[in-house]
Amino acid sequence: MRTGGGRLERPLAGRAETCCAAAACGASSTRSRKATCAANSSGKSSRIGSTTIRVDKFLTLSSTLSPDFLDPLERLRASISECALCPSLVRCRSRVVPGDGAAPAAVAFVGLAPGRFGGDRTGIPFTGLHRMIHRARLRRVFITNLVRCNPRDARGRNRDPSAEEIANCHAHLEAELELVRPRVVACLGRIAWRELAGRDAPFNPRRAQPQIVRGKRVFPMYHPAYVNRGAYPERTYARDFARLARLLQELS
Ligand code: SF4
Repeated sequence: MRTGGGRLERPLAGRAETCCAAAACGASSTRSRKATCAANSSGKSSRIGSTTIRVDKFLTLSSTLSPDFLDPLERLRASISECALCPSLVRCRSRVVPGDGAAPAAVAFVGLAPGRFGGDRTGIPFTGLHRMIHRARLRRVFITNLVRCNPRDARGRNRDPSAEEIANCHAHLEAELELVRPRVVACLGRIAWRELAGRDAPFNPRRAQPQIVRGKRVFPMYHPAYVNRGAYPERTYARDFARLARLLQELS
């Protein structure tokens, strides 16, 4: 859905189950103006010239679009989708997974990397977070990661991105945050927190307090994987989300 001023507001709820048809996904063909596609057959479409735009599930842009048609966030996503800065990630990724969601955003969640069975398959970062987002009634949410390609070890399992890979992708993160200008950047996990708040800032999501660091209001939270493996109670995690929602209310 497009909102006033040409900004993009794509509802996360309807997209949680969306998956990208690998054969049709244009992540590698943005040079020819084929941006990422999705194959949710329940999406509504609009026709503009010879171009079909799927508006309610996953923005589909195909073939003849002028780059000027794309809003700034889609242009950024298209340019990130061509990135090949990390050779080892280029070899193992299925696709680049740029940040996604509302622009401007009230809150941007920053995780670690697309998962092998998550963003790397769907093209959408962190669909596992959507339930908590909706439970806390958060609006205007943007979701991204420190790196935009799925890192795997020699056996094909998820691994943490290296410091070099995080550094390579930092400019993409900065560009996304600059564009969506969130009031709060919620850092999911210690590594995202260290990257955005600095090594000296204590990581304490249980008593989370926002901090202003280099012009960003950062807020520490546990990574959902930590909750999924039972290391942190889901009920307490929901309370952390409620605390974030209150903070956003105070700031609005
Ligand atoms: S992780 Fe980031 S910097 Fe590295 S190849 Fe992917 S998009 Fe490029």
